[in-house]
Amino acid sequence: MRITCTIQETRERLAEAKAAGKKIGFVPTMGYLHEGHARLVEVAGKHCDFVVVSIFVNPTQFAPGEDLSTYPRDAERDEALLKKVGCQLLFRPDEKEMYPTPSLTRIELPELASQLCGKSRPTHFQGVATVVAKLLHIVQPELAFFGMKDGQQLAVVKRMVEDLNFPVQIIGVPTVREEDGLAKSSRNVYLNEHQRQTAPQIYQALLKGKAAIEAGETDPNRVRQIIYSHLQDQPELRIDYVEVVRLSDLQPAAQIEGDIMLAVAVYLGKARLIDNLQLHVKNSTSGQRRQVLDKGLDIL
Ligand code: AMP
Repeated sequence: MRITCTIQETRERLAEAKAAGKKIGFVPTMGYLHEGHARLVEVAGKHCDFVVVSIFVNPTQFAPGEDLSTYPRDAERDEALLKKVGCQLLFRPDEKEMYPTPSLTRIELPELASQLCGKSRPTHFQGVATVVAKLLHIVQPELAFFGMKDGQQLAVVKRMVEDLNFPVQIIGVPTVREEDGLAKSSRNVYLNEHQRQTAPQIYQALLKGKAAIEAGETDPNRVRQIIYSHLQDQPELRIDYVEVVRLSDLQPAAQIEGDIMLAVAVYLGKARLIDNLQLHVKNSTSGQRRQVLDKGLDIL
C-alpha cells in the first residue's frame, strides 16, 4: 500500500494505475477506521482493481462547538487495517493541502441538506458536499463507495453527482453493525459502559418501526410514533429527530410505499448517534401480502 499526503503525488500514482488500465474505486473516510469502513474497502476491491482510501477529518463539515478537535484518530491502526483489507493507495492530506487558502467555493443542496441532520447541523452538508467534490476531482474514480449508515450524506452525494454530471457512480453499502445491532461508528468510543448498553436500543426502535410496517401499518406518523416512544423509554437518550422520509428527496413520506428511510438521531452522553433503515415497500395488490425489503448494495 502506498501512502500519499499531497494532491500532486496522489495524481501521479493514479495516472500510473489508470495507464495500466486499472479500474479505480474510492472510499473517502475521516479515519479511526472500523469494520464498517473495512466493508466499504472490501466491496470496492470486488468491483475495482485499484482501491484508493482517503483519510481527512474535514474541518468545514464541523460547526463551532462540535467534536472536530476531539474526533478520534489513530493513524497506525488505520494503516494496518487498510493493508489487511486490500487498499492500494491511502491519501492522507493535511488541512493545508486541502485548503491552502480558505475555499470561496461551496456546493449546496438546500432541499436535501436542510432535512434530518441539517436541522441541528445547518452547515454540515455544505462542508460534506464540497469536500467530496474536491476528493472526487483529485481521485477521479469510476466508482465511489459510501455507507448507507449516513443515509442523508449518501443521498446528498448521489444527487450532487447526478446534478453536476460528475463522471462517477456512487455506490451505497449496507450498514455494518455490532452483534447487538448498534451501527459501527467512530463516535461509539465516546460512550461509557452504561451508555454503550443503552445504544442498541436505537436499532431496536428502528426494527419496531419496520415490524409495524410489515404488520400492515400504512401511516408514516404512526410508524414515527412507534420508533419515538421506544426511544423515549430510554431515559439516557435525548432524541434529536425521528423521521420517516422518501429516499429520493428526504421529504416526509406521505405514505408507506416505495423507497423510504426510517431515520433517527439521538444524543447519548457526549455522542450524537445516527442510524436508519432503508426499505423498499411494495403494497399488496389483490390480497397479496405487502413486501418490505431492506435495500441492499446498490451496484449495477
Ligand atoms: P466516516 O469516516 O465516519 O466519515 O465514514 C466514512 C464512510 O464510511 C462513510 O461513507 C460512512 O457512511 C461509512 N460508514 C461509517 N460507518 C459505517 C458502518 N457502520 N457501516 C457501513 N458504512 C459505514
